[in-house]
Amino acid sequence: MYHSACGQNDSPKWLSLLGRFICVGTVRKDFKIMNVDVNLNKTASGKLKRPSRAEAEEAVRTLISYIGDDPTRDGLVDTPKRVIKTYQEFYSGYEESPEEVLGRSFEEGAGYDDMVMLRDIDINSHCEHHMIPFIGTAHIAYFPTDRVVGISKLARVVDIFAKRLQTQETMTAQISNVLENVLKPQGCAVHIDAVHQCMSLRGIKKPNVATVTTKFTGIFKDNYHLQNRFLDMTRGR
Ligand SMILES: [Zn+2]
Repeated sequence: MYHSACGQNDSPKWLSLLGRFICVGTVRKDFKIMNVDVNLNKTASGKLKRPSRAEAEEAVRTLISYIGDDPTRDGLVDTPKRVIKTYQEFYSGYEESPEEVLGRSFEEGAGYDDMVMLRDIDINSHCEHHMIPFIGTAHIAYFPTDRVVGISKLARVVDIFAKRLQTQETMTAQISNVLENVLKPQGCAVHIDAVHQCMSLRGIKKPNVATVTTKFTGIFKDNYHLQNRFLDMTRGR
């Protein structure tokens, strides 16, 4: 899949890897090597094996040495501890289930059947290709059927997905899918506008480029009037 924001194209990497193995001509042996690599971080039951905190801190020391600094010098001694603590905050979304958060808080809508919108939800996420921040704003809306959900829960859902390694395209689809699956609305709309630091600080180095993604479902899907009403509201009109 090609990711528009940071220009990564992950499937051809796999395809070329596969192609390389096939070209070598010893397909069976090389596939065995691939299996070992893929399963290295998994337990016998196929679950991901999570390293200990000490192992994670050691990995940070390795990176410090790799870039050419001395992890034992005074200024860096406590850095691995701080980095791992920061990572726990950046990636806390793996510990929570958006479905559970949304599913907990239904209320009767008392006949309300127009658009419910949450505008300007801050997003601080990290691109899964470089682990560099992308920062922006999400706007989400849905048309309830008979029940509405606590609005703070909608912002929580966005936050849970943002606090994982992401692409903006995937996150847009994930938010839309969970709204659809749990709220079962007449339709929903998701719009994300973000700046990717992997584009501004490295690679192509374009600091002011915004990436915009949208997803419309249900009654939004083919209704341009509703889509425009939603997009107007994202601009505060
Ligand atoms: Zn990136």
